[in-house]
Amino acid sequence: MSKPAMKELIDKAEQYIFPTYIRSPIVLTKGEGMNVWDSEGKEYLDFMSGIAVLNVGHLHPRVVEAIHKQSSKLMHVSNLYYSEPQIKLAELLITHSFADKVFFCNSGAEANEAAIKLARKVFKDKGEGNRFEIITMENSFHGRTMATLSATGQKKFHHGFEPLLSSFAYVPFNNAQAVEEAITDITCAVMVEPIQGEGGVNCPSPDYLKNLRHICDQHGLLLIFDEVQVGMGRTGKLFAHQHYGVEPDIMTLAKALAGGMPIGAMLAKEKFASSFSAGTHASTFGGNPLSCAAGIATIEALLQDKILDNCQKMGDYFYSKLLSLKEKHPLLIKRVKGKGLILGIELSFEGTEIAMECLKNGILIICTMRNILRFVPPLIITEKEIDILIDTLDKLLEQTPISTP
Ligand code: PLP
Repeated sequence: MSKPAMKELIDKAEQYIFPTYIRSPIVLTKGEGMNVWDSEGKEYLDFMSGIAVLNVGHLHPRVVEAIHKQSSKLMHVSNLYYSEPQIKLAELLITHSFADKVFFCNSGAEANEAAIKLARKVFKDKGEGNRFEIITMENSFHGRTMATLSATGQKKFHHGFEPLLSSFAYVPFNNAQAVEEAITDITCAVMVEPIQGEGGVNCPSPDYLKNLRHICDQHGLLLIFDEVQVGMGRTGKLFAHQHYGVEPDIMTLAKALAGGMPIGAMLAKEKFASSFSAGTHASTFGGNPLSCAAGIATIEALLQDKILDNCQKMGDYFYSKLLSLKEKHPLLIKRVKGKGLILGIELSFEGTEIAMECLKNGILIICTMRNILRFVPPLIITEKEIDILIDTLDKLLEQTPISTP
């Protein structure tokens, strides 16, 4: 029997699947390293990594082997029992982070839900249950569940789902004074992405996170870092906050943690972790042996295969190439931003067309906030692939009309 054509598959998808995503019209069937292929055999360079998931690349041999081995032994076990991959992954995360305890779940939203619940519980346990509000940032993104949607400081995601949970206060990102001014008697925590991803690749000034730490310490608040997008090596260090000389009380991870397998994790210091006692929180699939085996292989690859070094080197190279592109097209590119291999260019016009043209030219990129092209390739990328993207963008920008305001 012949394989269904791409158009036929897409028609079926439109028929059967909720239309919640604006999808590019391709069906992807295969991936390896930096590349993916569609069902008609066309090859693409992947500069989006399934949105910052495939940090070690598609089908990393260590991850594939770990999944093969684990899937022939034990695929699932209830959290009412112990399982070895979960214990080993927990040990690896704790050894390489500020934290003492980890709670496993399945996604970034679920990890942030756990962080929000833990912050509330810590204060309830202290007899300060009236402190439940969390300060989050404008242009942040924390997930799509009701609590994490409410934590997200972007109105466009709220639309249609109000009333939201009223226990979040939004302040501008990268403004520590605004956080201080927003603290009231009911504040219990500050939650922030060290670098905003969905919000447009926004890096903080060097002292911002340290200042937040100081403010939280002064006011007895918890500091939560959402590293769902920028953790697991994306910025050239295992966790993005490690660039800024500061530690949170709670951190959330997901996306790249298991090399492409679904997983989420919420990590915390012991003195706060103890508020999640037996029966207070749970997840059926959280810490699933298959995902955890993939997670162990992913961390080992990141730490042992010089992938973090490559991320730093290629990040610098990529950034300098984007700066040269900006010099060449100063009216079309307003700004180059990012750190390591989460990079973006702010265009002076809407970027979806450029992203579509890149797709036609065999390159996957993301356009976010309408005019920011975001690049989050696998961290195993080489100069050759960066040059291909830069040449393609150059060609497309040459053809873009410059509209004067
Ligand atoms: N937090 C951040 C910073 C994110 O970028 C995302 C997803 O893009 C999430 C949370 C939500 O993660 P998930 O889609 O796995 O629920």
